[in-house]
Amino acid sequence: MSEVQSRFHEPVGQMVTPRRNRVDLHTHTTRSDGVLDPERLYADMREYGMRVVAIADHDTLAGYRELRAAGRGAAAGPEGPQLIPAVEINSIADRALREMGVQLEEGELHILGFGVDADDERLEARLASQRGSRRTRLLLIIEALRRLGKPIDDEIAPALETLEALGRPHIARAMVEAGHVASVQEAFDLWIDRHGPAYVPRQGLATRDAIDAINESGGICVLAHYPAAPEQPALIELLLGWGLRGLEVHYRRFLPETVERMAAFAAERGLIATGGSDYHGDGMSYAEAQATTFVPNEVGERLLEALAAQPARSG
Ligand code: AMP
Ligand code: ZN
Ligand code: FE
Ligand code: FE
Repeated sequence: MSEVQSRFHEPVGQMVTPRRNRVDLHTHTTRSDGVLDPERLYADMREYGMRVVAIADHDTLAGYRELRAAGRGAAAGPEGPQLIPAVEINSIADRALREMGVQLEEGELHILGFGVDADDERLEARLASQRGSRRTRLLLIIEALRRLGKPIDDEIAPALETLEALGRPHIARAMVEAGHVASVQEAFDLWIDRHGPAYVPRQGLATRDAIDAINESGGICVLAHYPAAPEQPALIELLLGWGLRGLEVHYRRFLPETVERMAAFAAERGLIATGGSDYHGDGMSYAEAQATTFVPNEVGERLLEALAAQPARSG
């Protein structure tokens, strides 16, 4: 992967933010693999002066529901930013996609679903099954690490006991705690990324099914952090046929030229553009992440308009 498209290694992202960012449509909380709990993240968002935000936890709407129940985020104001219900499904590329020979991160495409119905039982059942697969995968990774002489059983125990939507960041943090690695990034680089000795492939929804699940719940599907999109029009065409509606253009870790190409491509194809920090909380504060995130205000407005125009969910 070229430096322009680099996702996980610094220095990346936009170097200078022309003005304070107010829109962040991609964040994670402790309800999945983020570090801050929903109330704390929302408080940090308010503190920073955000206007439109989305929590897009992996395979769960629990964080959104928690904030909604506390009366947060119905509209933007001094009480805090407007909060859009969202979810991120890390889907396994269907055979049809793999056979196109396109560039895929770990054989996956990450689908963001904006405006899904947080009370939809059918969607919840699908997400619950995803969370079950996450747990199974994590247990296999823990076992692999044990075999490799890097046990994390004690350090991972609290996460296994209390959390529902587990992910490799939990493994990485436990490895840091156990003293096996110096940082979360090192845990990925040396042990658990696709090339790592403790890598275990994901089980769960295929891309087409993930798109269906979101659409059937009244959501808008957006392809997350896929910088190769402009070079893969056939892939995008196929996904559009399956019900994709947008592209994550203003992603924090994209370089300015990547954002520019993505924005032009999205505009050309009539795709909804979204953007955000993908903040997980490792190694930086929310404010620090915002300093390298730039999502135009119009992007938030356009998404809200598209959501307002959405028909109610089917089925
Ligand atoms: P999982 O859902 O268990 O596959 O974990 C995915 C999450 O791990 C992503 O949302 C990222 O936060 C993080 N992640 C994935 N790959 C890497 C990597 N190579 N380096 C650092 N973090 C990563
Ligand atoms: Zn994550
Ligand atoms: Fe993702
Ligand atoms: Fe994410």
